[in-house]
Amino acid sequence: MSDAAVIVCDNLVKIYKQADLEVIALQGLDLVVDAGEFVAIMGASGSGKSTLLGVLGGLVSPTAGAVSVGGNDLLQLSVRDRTRFRRSEVGFVWQQTARNLVPYLSARENVELPMRFDGRSRRDRRLTAMRLLDQVGLSGRTDHRPSQLSGGEQQRVAIATALANSPRVVFADEPTGELDTDTASEVVEVLRTVNREDGVTIVVVTHDSELAAYTDRTVLIRDGRTSTEVLRRSTGGVGVGVIAEEFAVLDRVGRLQLPTEYVDALELQQRVRLTLDSDRINVWPDRPGADEVDSEAWAQPADPQEGDDD
Ligand code: ADP
Ligand code: MG
Repeated sequence: MSDAAVIVCDNLVKIYKQADLEVIALQGLDLVVDAGEFVAIMGASGSGKSTLLGVLGGLVSPTAGAVSVGGNDLLQLSVRDRTRFRRSEVGFVWQQTARNLVPYLSARENVELPMRFDGRSRRDRRLTAMRLLDQVGLSGRTDHRPSQLSGGEQQRVAIATALANSPRVVFADEPTGELDTDTASEVVEVLRTVNREDGVTIVVVTHDSELAAYTDRTVLIRDGRTSTEVLRRSTGGVGVGVIAEEFAVLDRVGRLQLPTEYVDALELQQRVRLTLDSDRINVWPDRPGADEVDSEAWAQPADPQEGDDD
């Protein structure tokens, strides 16, 4: 798609094999994220969001397809390169605050920890940790331990820790899942800030469409595939307004997933008729004469039913 792509997934497949059970978590997922983008991933529980982040972060090995992050082909990395990749090219923020931070270390010591593994000098570690804690608004809390910080503050320390080794990409898996709404938006604002100030690419999984609205683009995953994308473009000067446009995703070989609401509205099943106009493609139900019927008849939702919110 572009030279600036930092993440490319092409027909990515992940199958978890257990004793006599196979779970297809990702089934041919396509995704391109450009350097410096701030992208939200949304989708129902079990749709494969965490699996995707795990694959992109080098924690879960893919079954098939192609995936590269920052120019690293994740199917080809040696064990040693994978360790280096996880330590210095990507950063993680998890939902569970306890998973992000070491409880008996102060905020500053937590941020310094990944830099120790990377062998940086004590002075460099300390200066970097203080700068990062300042950036996430916690310069007054550097000596506090996680238990002395609020949930939102702990997640901000986690963001600073994820940034410690200057990764190309930060992955955050429902980082605000355990926070109340106000605190959650503070945390997402911090992600937005580091994205803008440092140009670090951020991919965040969230359930909350209000939080997703802070990002440049929302990618919707359904059944282990990307189905819909919402792009947000600023309409002019700072804060003037944002236009959100929804797109369906066309994969490499031209496959398209129709939104469930559209399929239901026209009771589409198995086959549809396609007709090409000079500027559009029409999709018709496979019913005798359906493409001859006045299109108005099909423009109305069949029977507006309420109550199915999934
Ligand atoms: P999400 O984060 O969108 O809720 P997940 O990626 O966690 O989705 O899960 C996708 C599917 O893969 C689900 O059906 C889940 O049960 C399954 N799954 C996830 N992790 C494992 C695992 N380690 N072993 C077996 N199945 C798994
Ligand atoms: Mg998940």
